[in-house]
Amino acid sequence: MDSPLEEAAKIVKQVYSVIPVYDKIVPALLSGGVWDLPKTCCFSPGVPVGPMLAKPTKGVSEILDKFQNTEFTCEYKYDGERAQIHYLEDGTVQIYSRNAERHTEKFPDVVVAASRVKKPNVTSFVLDCELVAYDRKKQKILPFQILSTRARKNVVMSEIKVDVCIYAFDLLYLNGQQLLQEQLITRRERLYESFMEEPGYFQLATAITSNDLEEIQTFLVLLDTAVNASCEGLIIKTLTRDATHEPAKRSNNWLKLKKDYMDSIGDSLDLVPIAAFHGRGKRVGVYGAFLLACYDNSKDEYQTICKIGTGFSEAMLEERSTSLRSKVIPMPKSYYRYADFVNPDVWFEASEVWEVKAADLTISPVYCAAIGAVDPNKGISLRFPRLLRVRDDKGPEDASSSEMVRILFFFLVPHSLKNIFRLLKVIFFAFLFY
Ligand code: AMP
Repeated sequence: MDSPLEEAAKIVKQVYSVIPVYDKIVPALLSGGVWDLPKTCCFSPGVPVGPMLAKPTKGVSEILDKFQNTEFTCEYKYDGERAQIHYLEDGTVQIYSRNAERHTEKFPDVVVAASRVKKPNVTSFVLDCELVAYDRKKQKILPFQILSTRARKNVVMSEIKVDVCIYAFDLLYLNGQQLLQEQLITRRERLYESFMEEPGYFQLATAITSNDLEEIQTFLVLLDTAVNASCEGLIIKTLTRDATHEPAKRSNNWLKLKKDYMDSIGDSLDLVPIAAFHGRGKRVGVYGAFLLACYDNSKDEYQTICKIGTGFSEAMLEERSTSLRSKVIPMPKSYYRYADFVNPDVWFEASEVWEVKAADLTISPVYCAAIGAVDPNKGISLRFPRLLRVRDDKGPEDASSSEMVRILFFFLVPHSLKNIFRLLKVIFFAFLFY
Protein backbone atom coordinates (compact mmCIF):
# COMPACT_ATOMS: atom_id res chain seq x y z
CA MET A 1 0.00 0.00 0.00
CA ASP A 2 1.19 3.52 -0.81
CA SER A 3 1.94 5.99 1.99
CA PRO A 4 -0.41 9.02 2.19
CA LEU A 5 2.33 11.17 0.67
CA GLU A 6 2.74 8.80 -2.29
CA GLU A 7 -1.03 8.64 -2.66
CA ALA A 8 -1.22 12.46 -2.71
CA ALA A 9 1.58 12.67 -5.30
CA LYS A 10 -0.33 10.19 -7.50
CA ILE A 11 -3.45 12.34 -7.32
CA VAL A 12 -1.57 15.50 -8.31
CA LYS A 13 0.12 13.64 -11.19
CA GLN A 14 -3.21 12.25 -12.40
CA VAL A 15 -4.90 15.64 -12.24
CA TYR A 16 -1.93 17.26 -14.02
CA SER A 17 -2.28 14.77 -16.89
CA VAL A 18 -5.88 15.88 -17.40
CA ILE A 19 -5.32 19.59 -16.83
CA PRO A 20 -1.63 20.48 -17.11
CA VAL A 21 -1.95 24.04 -15.80
CA TYR A 22 -0.33 24.83 -12.43
CA ASP A 23 -2.20 28.14 -12.31
CA LYS A 24 -5.38 26.08 -11.90
CA ILE A 25 -3.98 23.21 -9.83
CA VAL A 26 -2.21 25.25 -7.12
CA PRO A 27 -5.18 27.47 -6.18
CA ALA A 28 -7.44 24.36 -6.14
CA LEU A 29 -4.92 22.58 -3.88
CA LEU A 30 -4.74 25.54 -1.50
CA SER A 31 -8.47 25.97 -1.24
CA GLY A 32 -9.82 22.40 -1.34
CA GLY A 33 -6.82 20.22 -0.37
CA VAL A 34 -5.31 17.30 -2.23
CA TRP A 35 -7.96 14.61 -1.66
CA ASP A 36 -10.68 16.64 -3.35
CA LEU A 37 -8.41 17.80 -6.16
CA PRO A 38 -9.92 15.48 -8.84
CA LYS A 39 -13.29 17.10 -8.12
CA THR A 40 -12.15 20.72 -7.80
CA CYS A 41 -9.81 20.64 -10.76
CA CYS A 42 -10.84 18.52 -13.69
CA PHE A 43 -10.85 18.28 -17.48
CA SER A 44 -11.92 21.48 -19.12
CA PRO A 45 -12.39 22.06 -22.85
CA GLY A 46 -9.84 24.47 -24.23
CA VAL A 47 -7.09 23.03 -22.01
CA PRO A 48 -5.19 20.13 -23.65
CA VAL A 49 -4.97 16.77 -21.85
CA GLY A 50 -1.73 14.78 -22.00
CA PRO A 51 -1.75 12.34 -24.92
CA MET A 52 -2.47 8.68 -24.28
CA LEU A 53 0.36 6.64 -25.82
CA ALA A 54 0.88 3.06 -26.88
CA LYS A 55 3.38 0.51 -25.60
CA PRO A 56 5.59 -1.17 -28.18
CA THR A 57 5.12 -4.89 -28.82
CA LYS A 58 7.42 -7.38 -30.42
CA GLY A 59 4.69 -8.98 -32.41
CA VAL A 60 1.37 -10.62 -32.90
CA SER A 61 2.03 -13.43 -30.45
CA GLU A 62 2.60 -10.88 -27.66
CA ILE A 63 -0.60 -9.06 -28.57
CA LEU A 64 -2.59 -12.27 -28.45
CA ASP A 65 -1.10 -13.22 -25.11
CA LYS A 66 -1.80 -9.79 -23.59
CA PHE A 67 -5.29 -9.37 -24.99
CA GLN A 68 -6.53 -12.93 -24.47
CA ASN A 69 -10.33 -13.00 -24.11
CA THR A 70 -10.50 -9.24 -24.59
CA GLU A 71 -12.28 -7.50 -27.40
CA PHE A 72 -9.88 -5.26 -29.25
CA THR A 73 -9.55 -3.17 -32.36
CA CYS A 74 -6.61 -2.75 -34.72
CA GLU A 75 -6.17 0.69 -36.26
CA TYR A 76 -3.77 2.00 -38.84
CA LYS A 77 -0.95 3.93 -37.19
CA TYR A 78 -0.70 7.07 -39.30
CA ASP A 79 2.61 8.84 -39.62
CA GLY A 80 1.89 12.52 -39.14
CA GLU A 81 1.46 14.87 -36.23
CA ARG A 82 -0.71 14.10 -33.18
CA ALA A 83 -3.33 16.78 -32.66
CA GLN A 84 -6.02 17.48 -30.12
CA ILE A 85 -8.72 19.64 -31.65
CA HIS A 86 -10.87 21.57 -29.15
CA TYR A 87 -14.09 23.02 -30.52
CA LEU A 88 -15.75 25.22 -27.91
CA GLU A 89 -19.40 26.21 -27.44
CA ASP A 90 -18.70 29.70 -28.84
CA GLY A 91 -17.43 28.19 -32.11
CA THR A 92 -13.71 28.85 -31.47
CA VAL A 93 -11.22 26.13 -32.29
CA GLN A 94 -7.84 25.39 -30.74
CA ILE A 95 -5.38 22.79 -31.97
CA TYR A 96 -2.76 21.36 -29.60
CA SER A 97 0.30 19.27 -30.35
CA ARG A 98 1.46 16.12 -28.55
CA ASN A 99 3.41 18.41 -26.15
CA ALA A 100 0.34 20.55 -25.45
CA GLU A 101 1.72 23.42 -27.55
CA ARG A 102 -0.84 25.56 -29.36
CA HIS A 103 -0.64 24.81 -33.11
CA THR A 104 -3.81 26.59 -34.16
CA GLU A 105 -1.96 29.15 -36.28
CA LYS A 106 -0.06 26.40 -38.07
CA PHE A 107 -3.22 24.67 -39.27
CA PRO A 108 -5.88 27.25 -40.31
CA ASP A 109 -7.10 24.70 -42.90
CA VAL A 110 -7.72 22.15 -40.12
CA VAL A 111 -9.65 24.74 -38.10
CA VAL A 112 -11.99 25.25 -41.08
CA ALA A 113 -12.31 21.52 -41.84
CA ALA A 114 -13.01 20.58 -38.19
CA SER A 115 -15.82 23.11 -37.96
CA ARG A 116 -17.28 21.91 -41.27
CA VAL A 117 -17.29 18.13 -40.68
CA LYS A 118 -19.07 18.14 -37.31
CA LYS A 119 -22.74 17.26 -37.51
CA PRO A 120 -25.23 20.11 -36.82
CA ASN A 121 -26.20 18.72 -33.39
CA VAL A 122 -22.57 18.90 -32.19
CA THR A 123 -21.96 22.05 -30.14
CA SER A 124 -18.56 21.26 -28.61
CA PHE A 125 -15.94 18.51 -28.83
CA VAL A 126 -12.36 17.46 -28.18
CA LEU A 127 -11.04 15.23 -30.90
CA ASP A 128 -7.87 13.11 -30.69
CA CYS A 129 -6.39 12.62 -34.13
CA GLU A 130 -3.35 12.48 -36.40
CA LEU A 131 -2.81 15.23 -39.00
CA VAL A 132 -1.34 13.60 -42.08
CA ALA A 133 0.07 15.14 -45.27
CA TYR A 134 -2.30 14.24 -48.13
CA ASP A 135 -2.27 14.45 -51.92
CA ARG A 136 -5.94 15.16 -52.76
CA LYS A 137 -5.49 14.70 -56.51
CA LYS A 138 -4.00 11.22 -56.16
CA GLN A 139 -6.02 10.52 -53.00
CA LYS A 140 -2.89 9.35 -51.28
CA ILE A 141 -1.33 9.71 -47.87
CA LEU A 142 2.10 11.35 -48.02
CA PRO A 143 5.06 10.60 -45.77
CA PHE A 144 5.79 12.56 -42.59
CA GLN A 145 8.80 14.23 -44.24
CA ILE A 146 6.41 16.15 -46.52
CA LEU A 147 4.30 17.31 -43.57
CA SER A 148 7.39 18.62 -41.85
CA THR A 149 8.00 21.03 -44.74
CA ARG A 150 4.85 23.01 -43.82
CA ALA A 151 5.38 26.48 -42.40
CA ARG A 152 5.04 26.65 -38.61
CA LYS A 153 3.69 30.14 -37.93
CA ASN A 154 1.30 32.67 -39.44
CA VAL A 155 0.17 30.25 -42.13
CA VAL A 156 -2.14 31.84 -44.69
CA MET A 157 -4.79 29.55 -46.18
CA SER A 158 -4.15 30.62 -49.77
CA GLU A 159 -0.43 29.83 -49.47
CA ILE A 160 -0.72 26.30 -48.15
CA LYS A 161 1.25 23.90 -50.35
CA VAL A 162 0.98 20.73 -48.32
CA ASP A 163 -2.60 19.66 -47.67
CA VAL A 164 -3.52 17.80 -44.54
CA CYS A 165 -6.15 15.18 -43.78
CA ILE A 166 -7.46 14.71 -40.24
CA TYR A 167 -7.45 11.01 -39.28
CA ALA A 168 -9.68 10.85 -36.19
CA PHE A 169 -9.34 8.00 -33.71
CA ASP A 170 -10.77 9.18 -30.38
CA LEU A 171 -13.31 11.60 -28.91
CA LEU A 172 -12.62 12.93 -25.40
CA TYR A 173 -15.45 15.44 -24.98
CA LEU A 174 -18.79 15.96 -26.66
CA ASN A 175 -21.56 18.52 -26.18
CA GLY A 176 -20.47 19.51 -22.69
CA GLN A 177 -19.85 15.94 -21.56
CA GLN A 178 -16.44 14.51 -20.68
CA LEU A 179 -15.84 11.06 -22.20
CA LEU A 180 -12.44 10.14 -20.69
CA GLN A 181 -13.97 7.59 -18.31
CA GLU A 182 -16.06 5.92 -21.05
CA GLN A 183 -14.80 2.72 -22.68
CA LEU A 184 -13.31 3.11 -26.16
CA ILE A 185 -16.27 1.30 -27.73
CA THR A 186 -18.58 4.10 -26.50
CA ARG A 187 -16.17 6.93 -27.34
CA ARG A 188 -15.82 5.56 -30.84
CA GLU A 189 -19.57 5.25 -31.28
CA ARG A 190 -19.91 8.93 -30.32
CA LEU A 191 -17.10 9.80 -32.74
CA TYR A 192 -18.68 7.90 -35.63
CA GLU A 193 -22.12 9.44 -35.09
CA SER A 194 -20.91 13.03 -34.56
CA PHE A 195 -18.87 13.68 -37.71
CA MET A 196 -19.22 13.34 -41.47
CA GLU A 197 -16.27 11.89 -43.36
CA GLU A 198 -14.93 14.06 -46.16
CA PRO A 199 -12.22 12.24 -48.17
CA GLY A 200 -8.88 14.03 -48.03
CA TYR A 201 -10.08 16.41 -45.29
CA PHE A 202 -11.51 14.31 -42.47
CA GLN A 203 -11.45 10.54 -42.23
CA LEU A 204 -11.95 8.04 -39.43
CA ALA A 205 -8.86 5.94 -38.74
CA THR A 206 -9.17 2.65 -40.63
CA ALA A 207 -9.84 -0.11 -38.13
CA ILE A 208 -10.83 -3.73 -37.84
CA THR A 209 -12.44 -5.06 -34.71
CA SER A 210 -12.08 -8.64 -33.77
CA ASN A 211 -11.25 -11.22 -31.17
CA ASP A 212 -11.33 -14.01 -33.69
CA LEU A 213 -8.15 -15.80 -34.64
CA GLU A 214 -9.00 -16.08 -38.33
CA GLU A 215 -9.62 -12.36 -38.52
CA ILE A 216 -6.42 -11.62 -36.69
CA GLN A 217 -4.63 -13.51 -39.41
CA THR A 218 -6.26 -11.17 -41.89
CA PHE A 219 -5.09 -8.30 -39.75
CA LEU A 220 -1.52 -9.37 -40.38
CA VAL A 221 -2.20 -8.91 -44.05
CA LEU A 222 -3.79 -5.59 -43.14
CA LEU A 223 -0.52 -4.55 -41.56
CA ASP A 224 1.20 -5.01 -44.90
CA THR A 225 -1.50 -2.90 -46.50
CA ALA A 226 -1.16 -0.27 -43.77
CA VAL A 227 2.54 -0.06 -44.30
CA ASN A 228 2.09 0.23 -48.03
CA ALA A 229 -0.36 3.06 -47.45
CA SER A 230 2.46 5.08 -45.84
CA CYS A 231 1.45 4.08 -42.36
CA GLU A 232 3.93 3.03 -39.73
CA GLY A 233 2.04 -0.07 -38.63
CA LEU A 234 -0.92 -0.69 -36.39
CA ILE A 235 -2.15 0.36 -32.95
CA ILE A 236 -4.13 -2.29 -31.13
CA LYS A 237 -6.58 -1.00 -28.51
CA THR A 238 -8.84 -2.66 -25.95
CA LEU A 239 -12.45 -1.80 -26.65
CA THR A 240 -14.70 -2.86 -23.82
CA ARG A 241 -12.54 -3.70 -20.78
CA ASP A 242 -9.81 -1.46 -19.30
CA ALA A 243 -10.53 0.82 -22.23
CA THR A 244 -10.92 4.27 -20.66
CA HIS A 245 -8.77 7.08 -22.08
CA GLU A 246 -5.63 7.36 -19.96
CA PRO A 247 -4.13 10.80 -20.50
CA ALA A 248 -0.35 11.21 -20.50
CA LYS A 249 0.23 7.49 -20.12
CA ARG A 250 2.02 4.88 -22.19
CA SER A 251 -0.77 2.45 -21.54
CA ASN A 252 -0.88 -1.33 -21.68
CA ASN A 253 -4.28 -0.96 -23.30
CA TRP A 254 -2.82 0.50 -26.47
CA LEU A 255 -0.12 -1.56 -28.13
CA LYS A 256 1.78 -0.46 -31.19
CA LEU A 257 3.03 -2.84 -33.78
CA LYS A 258 5.47 -1.15 -36.09
CA LYS A 259 6.68 -2.81 -39.25
CA ASP A 260 10.22 -2.91 -37.90
CA TYR A 261 9.29 -4.98 -34.91
CA MET A 262 6.58 -7.08 -36.43
CA ASP A 263 7.58 -10.60 -35.63
CA SER A 264 8.26 -13.01 -38.38
CA ILE A 265 10.41 -16.07 -38.48
CA GLY A 266 12.50 -14.16 -41.00
CA ASP A 267 12.89 -16.85 -43.55
CA SER A 268 9.91 -18.14 -45.46
CA LEU A 269 9.16 -21.85 -45.75
CA ASP A 270 8.24 -23.86 -48.85
CA LEU A 271 5.37 -26.17 -47.96
CA VAL A 272 3.11 -28.70 -49.68
CA PRO A 273 -0.71 -28.61 -49.53
CA ILE A 274 -1.81 -32.18 -48.77
CA ALA A 275 -5.43 -31.65 -47.75
CA ALA A 276 -8.15 -29.00 -47.60
CA PHE A 277 -11.33 -27.90 -45.87
CA HIS A 278 -14.40 -26.77 -47.82
CA GLY A 279 -14.99 -23.01 -47.76
CA ARG A 280 -17.95 -21.48 -45.96
CA GLY A 281 -19.66 -18.09 -46.26
CA LYS A 282 -17.83 -15.98 -48.84
CA ARG A 283 -15.66 -18.98 -49.72
CA VAL A 284 -18.41 -21.44 -50.66
CA GLY A 285 -17.44 -23.35 -53.82
CA VAL A 286 -13.71 -23.11 -53.20
CA TYR A 287 -11.49 -24.52 -50.48
CA GLY A 288 -11.48 -22.30 -47.38
CA ALA A 289 -8.26 -23.55 -45.81
CA PHE A 290 -5.47 -25.97 -46.62
CA LEU A 291 -3.38 -28.36 -44.57
CA LEU A 292 0.31 -27.81 -45.28
CA ALA A 293 3.21 -30.17 -44.75
CA CYS A 294 7.00 -30.07 -44.75
CA TYR A 295 9.06 -32.98 -45.99
CA ASP A 296 11.10 -35.27 -43.76
CA ASN A 297 14.00 -36.53 -45.88
CA SER A 298 15.15 -39.23 -43.49
CA LYS A 299 11.70 -40.72 -42.87
CA ASP A 300 10.56 -40.01 -46.41
CA GLU A 301 7.24 -38.60 -45.24
CA TYR A 302 5.18 -35.38 -45.38
CA GLN A 303 4.54 -34.03 -41.91
CA THR A 304 1.70 -31.57 -41.29
CA ILE A 305 2.82 -28.17 -40.03
CA CYS A 306 -0.20 -25.78 -40.13
CA LYS A 307 -3.55 -24.86 -41.59
CA ILE A 308 -3.52 -21.87 -43.92
CA GLY A 309 -6.35 -19.64 -45.14
CA THR A 310 -4.69 -16.23 -45.22
CA GLY A 311 -2.80 -14.39 -47.93
CA PHE A 312 -5.01 -15.54 -50.83
CA SER A 313 -6.72 -13.13 -53.16
CA GLU A 314 -10.12 -14.37 -54.38
CA ALA A 315 -8.64 -15.15 -57.81
CA MET A 316 -5.74 -17.04 -56.31
CA LEU A 317 -8.00 -19.13 -54.09
CA GLU A 318 -10.12 -20.02 -57.12
CA GLU A 319 -7.00 -20.90 -59.10
CA ARG A 320 -5.46 -23.07 -56.37
CA SER A 321 -8.78 -24.80 -55.67
CA THR A 322 -9.24 -25.66 -59.37
CA SER A 323 -5.70 -26.89 -59.70
CA LEU A 324 -5.84 -29.06 -56.57
CA ARG A 325 -9.27 -30.52 -57.34
CA SER A 326 -7.57 -32.64 -60.00
CA LYS A 327 -5.21 -33.99 -57.34
CA VAL A 328 -7.85 -35.24 -54.90
CA ILE A 329 -7.23 -38.78 -53.61
CA PRO A 330 -9.71 -41.00 -51.73
CA MET A 331 -7.45 -41.55 -48.74
CA PRO A 332 -4.36 -40.00 -47.25
CA LYS A 333 -1.11 -41.58 -48.39
CA SER A 334 0.68 -43.89 -46.00
CA TYR A 335 3.59 -41.44 -46.00
CA TYR A 336 1.50 -38.54 -44.69
CA ARG A 337 2.03 -37.91 -40.99
CA TYR A 338 -0.92 -36.16 -39.35
CA ALA A 339 -2.96 -36.23 -36.15
CA ASP A 340 -6.15 -38.32 -36.44
CA PHE A 341 -8.39 -35.52 -35.20
CA VAL A 342 -7.42 -33.03 -37.94
CA ASN A 343 -10.18 -34.34 -40.25
CA PRO A 344 -9.90 -32.38 -43.50
CA ASP A 345 -12.67 -32.70 -46.12
CA VAL A 346 -10.37 -33.81 -48.97
CA TRP A 347 -6.84 -35.18 -49.34
CA PHE A 348 -4.48 -34.35 -52.20
CA GLU A 349 -1.59 -36.01 -53.85
CA ALA A 350 1.56 -34.03 -52.96
CA SER A 351 2.08 -31.90 -56.05
CA GLU A 352 2.46 -28.15 -55.38
CA VAL A 353 4.86 -26.08 -53.31
CA TRP A 354 3.74 -22.84 -51.66
CA GLU A 355 6.00 -20.24 -50.14
CA VAL A 356 4.65 -19.26 -46.74
CA LYS A 357 5.65 -16.71 -44.12
CA ALA A 358 4.71 -17.01 -40.44
CA ALA A 359 4.93 -14.94 -37.27
CA ASP A 360 6.18 -17.64 -34.96
CA LEU A 361 6.81 -21.34 -34.39
CA THR A 362 5.24 -23.25 -31.56
CA ILE A 363 5.09 -26.78 -30.10
CA SER A 364 1.81 -28.39 -31.07
CA PRO A 365 -0.12 -31.57 -30.29
CA VAL A 366 -2.08 -31.04 -33.56
CA TYR A 367 0.75 -30.89 -36.11
CA CYS A 368 3.60 -33.31 -36.75
CA ALA A 369 6.54 -31.37 -38.26
CA ALA A 370 9.82 -32.58 -36.71
CA ILE A 371 7.81 -34.73 -34.31
CA GLY A 372 9.99 -36.06 -31.51
CA ALA A 373 12.55 -33.25 -31.79
CA VAL A 374 11.08 -31.26 -28.93
CA ASP A 375 8.53 -33.61 -27.41
CA PRO A 376 8.03 -37.33 -28.13
CA ASN A 377 4.37 -36.83 -29.11
CA LYS A 378 4.24 -33.25 -30.33
CA GLY A 379 5.38 -31.55 -33.47
CA ILE A 380 6.26 -27.98 -34.38
CA SER A 381 3.70 -25.74 -36.08
CA LEU A 382 3.56 -22.27 -37.62
CA ARG A 383 1.56 -19.44 -36.03
CA PHE A 384 -0.19 -17.00 -38.35
CA PRO A 385 0.98 -18.45 -41.65
CA ARG A 386 0.21 -16.50 -44.79
CA LEU A 387 0.75 -17.40 -48.41
CA LEU A 388 3.39 -15.45 -50.31
CA ARG A 389 3.36 -17.24 -53.68
CA VAL A 390 3.27 -20.57 -55.47
CA ARG A 391 6.72 -22.00 -56.19
CA ASP A 392 6.33 -23.39 -59.72
CA ASP A 393 10.05 -24.04 -59.80
CA LYS A 394 9.94 -26.60 -56.99
CA GLY A 395 8.67 -30.16 -56.70
CA PRO A 396 7.11 -31.44 -53.45
CA GLU A 397 10.27 -33.23 -52.37
CA ASP A 398 12.13 -29.90 -52.59
CA ALA A 399 9.87 -28.51 -49.86
CA SER A 400 11.40 -27.25 -46.61
CA SER A 401 12.62 -30.17 -44.56
CA SER A 402 11.57 -31.01 -41.02
CA GLU A 403 15.24 -30.59 -40.12
CA MET A 404 15.03 -26.95 -41.23
CA VAL A 405 11.86 -26.50 -39.15
CA ARG A 406 13.66 -27.98 -36.13
CA ILE A 407 16.63 -25.65 -36.54
CA LEU A 408 14.38 -22.61 -37.05
CA PHE A 409 12.50 -23.52 -33.90
CA PHE A 410 15.59 -23.82 -31.74
CA PHE A 411 17.20 -20.69 -33.10
CA LEU A 412 14.15 -18.49 -33.13
CA VAL A 413 12.11 -19.60 -30.16
CA PRO A 414 14.46 -19.75 -27.19
CA HIS A 415 11.40 -19.11 -24.93
CA SER A 416 12.64 -21.20 -22.07
CA LEU A 417 15.85 -22.22 -20.40
CA LYS A 418 15.19 -25.73 -21.70
CA ASN A 419 15.22 -24.45 -25.26
CA ILE A 420 18.42 -22.50 -24.69
CA PHE A 421 20.07 -25.76 -23.57
CA ARG A 422 18.69 -27.51 -26.65
CA LEU A 423 20.05 -24.69 -28.81
CA LEU A 424 23.50 -25.02 -27.21
CA LYS A 425 23.33 -28.80 -27.85
CA VAL A 426 22.58 -28.20 -31.54
CA ILE A 427 25.51 -25.73 -31.79
CA PHE A 428 27.82 -28.15 -29.94
CA PHE A 429 27.02 -31.03 -32.28
CA ALA A 430 27.30 -28.77 -35.31
CA PHE A 431 30.87 -27.90 -34.19
CA LEU A 432 31.67 -31.53 -33.47
CA PHE A 433 30.72 -32.64 -36.95
CA TYR A 434 32.23 -29.62 -38.73
P1 AMP B 1 4.77 6.55 -30.96
O1 AMP B 1 5.01 8.00 -31.28
O2 AMP B 1 5.56 5.61 -31.78
O3 AMP B 1 4.83 6.27 -29.46
O4 AMP B 1 3.26 6.23 -31.37
C1 AMP B 1 2.20 6.94 -30.83
C2 AMP B 1 1.72 7.97 -31.82
O5 AMP B 1 1.12 7.35 -32.95
C3 AMP B 1 0.61 8.84 -31.28
O6 AMP B 1 1.10 9.90 -30.48
C4 AMP B 1 -0.06 9.36 -32.54
O7 AMP B 1 0.58 10.57 -32.95
C5 AMP B 1 0.26 8.30 -33.58
N1 AMP B 1 -0.91 7.60 -34.12
C6 AMP B 1 -1.11 7.37 -35.44
N2 AMP B 1 -2.23 6.67 -35.66
C7 AMP B 1 -2.80 6.46 -34.44
C8 AMP B 1 -3.97 5.78 -34.01
N3 AMP B 1 -4.79 5.17 -34.86
N4 AMP B 1 -4.23 5.76 -32.67
C9 AMP B 1 -3.40 6.36 -31.78
N5 AMP B 1 -2.26 7.01 -32.14
C10 AMP B 1 -1.95 7.06 -33.45
